[in-house]
Amino acid sequence: MAYLDGIKSVEDLNLDGKRVFVRVDFNVPLDNGVITDDFRIRQAIPTIQYIIRNGGLPIVASHLGRPKNNPDPAFSLKPVAERLSELLPEREVIFAEDCVGDGIVEQSKRLQPGQILLLENLRFYEEEEGKPRGKYATDEEKAAAKKAVKESQKKFAESLAALADVYVNDAFGTCHRAHASMATMVPHFGENKACGYLLQKEIKFLGGIVYDPEHPYVAILGGAKVSDKIGVIESLIEKCDQICIGGAMAYTLLAAKGVDVAASRVESDALDIAKNILDKAANSKCELLLPVDHVVSTALDDTTPCTVVEKFAAGQMGLDIGPKTREKYADVIRKAKSVFWNGPMGVFENPRYAEGTIAVAKALTECKGNTVVGGGDSAAAIRQFGMADKVTHVSTGGGASLELVEGKELPGVEALRIK
Ligand code: AMP
Repeated sequence: MAYLDGIKSVEDLNLDGKRVFVRVDFNVPLDNGVITDDFRIRQAIPTIQYIIRNGGLPIVASHLGRPKNNPDPAFSLKPVAERLSELLPEREVIFAEDCVGDGIVEQSKRLQPGQILLLENLRFYEEEEGKPRGKYATDEEKAAAKKAVKESQKKFAESLAALADVYVNDAFGTCHRAHASMATMVPHFGENKACGYLLQKEIKFLGGIVYDPEHPYVAILGGAKVSDKIGVIESLIEKCDQICIGGAMAYTLLAAKGVDVAASRVESDALDIAKNILDKAANSKCELLLPVDHVVSTALDDTTPCTVVEKFAAGQMGLDIGPKTREKYADVIRKAKSVFWNGPMGVFENPRYAEGTIAVAKALTECKGNTVVGGGDSAAAIRQFGMADKVTHVSTGGGASLELVEGKELPGVEALRIK
């Protein structure tokens, strides 16, 4: 497809005897050092296996979380190395205690066929993101620090590039970031750069609905904030036939319409943005659907009673879409030929407020069209409900999938393009 024009696949590279830098997104959720969801690790395995089967020596690199210090043991990739070796019992996973430096170059040169070198967290260096982490007294000091990090980012990228002969990007979830390992280091490889299977798959399915959707094209958007998703909503208004809104963001839009939403979570500083979105939709061919009933409570705990209302009473907050809204959204989804879903319909972490999100997920599984779930909470939700294998595609990237759907260029993908 057009979005991949000029981009090599891992299958186009000569891998035999080559050290292959594989940028993956192993940014997995951890609870006290225990991985609670290994979806992203599993999704990168086909590319790693392909590289090994074709004589390549994978040097696998990722970030994990948002470490503040270098190094920060709470964000070590060590548990990921352990999980990777459990998932690949026939391979030997070697964990490198750092991601750059002479010792790591030596380790990369000693790699034997069948072994995998997993580097320590790239974000143990502020150069990975290219943003200074210190506190600065003045704007001038901050600007100087920013400039210095940008300069040292080039050196960091060179050190990463010194570890390998070819470059493969399979980190879809990070492709919206122009970080050292995603973009700055890539020119060092000339034309020896390619996308892995996961990146290819993500672009095929997400790009398919962005650039060539079959109609009716329906988007389901939920989650906490309208302000996080302005760009994507505006872009979807131009492309979709219907957009169904749920989650807390629905209450900011309802408030902007003048509806009394009582104690519901409203972004008061985003009301103008919300009005703008409503006007845009009213002047388009796209129908913007908002909830007509709600599951409400006066507190977000497990004991305060919850009830279904169409009109809010004082003190009530909307925590999920109600049964009428669920039925309407499900009906719209079932009739669609293309569906993109991002964001939960309510506080789905609490089973009392998960019914709306479950109803949307179920309707996606019943839709005969192309059904794509953006990453983040909606991807976690559909997998938690055991329905992930009944939709066309569940993305590994939250922010990246939103930017792609918005029509933005992804720096990680652009770095791979051979002009
Ligand atoms: P986001 O990160 O924007 O996708 O937002 C996801 C979060 O929004 C989840 O943690 C939900 O619990 C939360 N959320 C969804 N609906 C509501 C609501 N009606 N009120 C408060 N929080 C909500």
